[in-house]
Amino acid sequence: MKRVLLKLSGEALAGDKKTGFDEATCMGVAQQVKKLVDDGIQVAIVTGGGNFWRGRTSETIDRVKADQIGMLATVMNCIYVSDIFRYAGMKTEVFTPFVCGAFTTLFSKDAAVEALNEGKVIFFAGGTGHPYFSTDTGAVLKAIEIEADAMLLAKAIDGIYDSDPKVNPQAKKYDEISIQEIIDKKLMAVDLTASIMCLEHKMPMLVFGLNEENSIVETMMGTFTGTKVTV
Ligand code: UDP
Repeated sequence: MKRVLLKLSGEALAGDKKTGFDEATCMGVAQQVKKLVDDGIQVAIVTGGGNFWRGRTSETIDRVKADQIGMLATVMNCIYVSDIFRYAGMKTEVFTPFVCGAFTTLFSKDAAVEALNEGKVIFFAGGTGHPYFSTDTGAVLKAIEIEADAMLLAKAIDGIYDSDPKVNPQAKKYDEISIQEIIDKKLMAVDLTASIMCLEHKMPMLVFGLNEENSIVETMMGTFTGTKVTV
């Protein structure tokens, strides 16, 4: 794989605190991504926003406004993680689908691919720019647009299970599963819109735990213990 899109869930970025940023976790991610970049792999990153806010969790304010706050949460996450990456010695650029003044660059495929070819790690913040979508969907969309070889999904959980392991201690983890099976069984590992896009555009996924030691590098090197999603 020469070009990958890495999706970091917001919750995973927060470490044990479950909210805000955990610097040690983000620094660990940066060190792992640096190894990939040093090996010539092009890396694009999407972060979630769940460590600050999820639109669907508000029952009081308008959903569109709630989702706008969620998208801005992903911009904060990308600016933070991007700067940790710079501290770790990488060049970065943050793209958004809407104007954020001088904070970010407005996304276009050409600008994003050019930045990757210059050796930068690029960040796609702000999701799709539209409410009622998730960052998973935004991540698949961007992976397809930049013609990534695969999408790596780093989560707070170490793969895809047949039921929620927090609720069911007997839950079984899949080593491999097709995207069609995820859709048919309505497994909530990836949301339905994102799954359908992966199916339609044949985007494979590797799902693993961000908190497992060296999991990003091991996923790329083939010694992988998460769930492989085939198309
Ligand atoms: N969001 C949105 N449109 C998008 C992407 C994200 O409205 O294209 C909002 C939505 O409110 C979502 C929040 O941003 O709940 C944070 O994203 P997500 O829940 O996917 O984050 P994660 O669970 O991966 O941390």
